[in-house]
Amino acid sequence: MTAFALDAALAERREQSLYRQRLLVDGPQEPELMVDGQCCLAFCSNDYLGLANHPDVINAFKKATDIYGVGGGASHLIVGHSRAHHQLEEELAEFTGRSRVLLFSTGYMANLGVISALLGISDAVFQDRLNHASLLDAGRLSGARFQRYLHADCENLEQRLMRSTAHRKLVVTDGVFSMDGDIAPLRELSKLARSHDAWLMVDDAHGFGCLGNEGRGCADYFDLSQDDLPVLMGTLGKAFGTAGAFVAGSEALIETLVQFARTYIYTTAMPPAIAEATRVSLNIVRKESWRREHLTTLIQRFRSGCETLGIRLMPSSTPIQPIDVGSADRALEMSRALADNGILVTAIRPPTVPQGSARLRVTFSAAHTPEQVDRLLTTLEEVVRKVPEVEV
Ligand SMILES: *Cc1c(COP(=O)(O)O)cnc(C)c1O
Repeated sequence: MTAFALDAALAERREQSLYRQRLLVDGPQEPELMVDGQCCLAFCSNDYLGLANHPDVINAFKKATDIYGVGGGASHLIVGHSRAHHQLEEELAEFTGRSRVLLFSTGYMANLGVISALLGISDAVFQDRLNHASLLDAGRLSGARFQRYLHADCENLEQRLMRSTAHRKLVVTDGVFSMDGDIAPLRELSKLARSHDAWLMVDDAHGFGCLGNEGRGCADYFDLSQDDLPVLMGTLGKAFGTAGAFVAGSEALIETLVQFARTYIYTTAMPPAIAEATRVSLNIVRKESWRREHLTTLIQRFRSGCETLGIRLMPSSTPIQPIDVGSADRALEMSRALADNGILVTAIRPPTVPQGSARLRVTFSAAHTPEQVDRLLTTLEEVVRKVPEVEV
């Protein structure tokens, strides 16, 4: 029985302040969130544009269930590929300026599917060391030679690319880093990849909808064409407020995925109503640029407030605004103190982030008001005073 000493491993996790617990939420994703039976002010969702509970998106979903029902029913390659999916793919291709788009049921699956379809044992994958877990897992699953380069460090990447004798070389990075909020140097990475006969893949889970003209994401933000950035991945469960993900690129890339991406082939299609709801949210993302402008105002208000209070933020211009706290204990203690004051901010601890860089991950949504940001700042000030070991 010792092989499965689960209790011991769980106890160790608890002692390290790394134990995770789920909160129970009632009602929709909104800044004022019902959590464990209490109303609190939340700064932890990825619903950046406030679309997860938008009436038009909800109505599109409801109407689509009258037409398509609820379940996807089958995989895309059997009879699960509905007109709703197809139209969304075409609209996303137009929006991202790519030849074609393929929908996946989740971002995690999109990443696993793409990287393992493109790479095998004679290939190499080069990943930023702070990449999202799904990208790292995908690299391992592919069987390719796996290299992690220093965060956003083009020189370090170049040395690795130069030494590589792999057949195919794929450079993979988050567009906006999910736990740091900074933006990858995509223009440099793209040049570097091209000069070493490598492809660049970007996971734009946190930039899509937020960055670029009409929210077209980091490819537009850096003006990178399909040749500059051959594999573009985005998710729909964050700024788009629905669910699922997509990969955008050339005809040959998308056909390769249809034929070889196992997480595309061997899974049920996302419910068609989700695709219909996403088409409506795409329209809102494009047209309502006030959402992005409002977000920028909130972010600036928060950053200048923190500066006045001497609270250390990480260098980020995106809706992800982590407070650098250091130890996991400290992050938990601060998060609890905020919760005691009705404010919800998640403590992010290892292994999600490197040892010694635990943080409070504050995220903003266009659904927040300036007054709510002020309430966060006032409460942070109190908490910082009450939890004195916190470095400020
Ligand atoms: C959230 C996220 C994913 C996973 O997307 P899901 O659709 O939630 O599975 C992938 N990559 C990054 C960078 C993410 O933040």
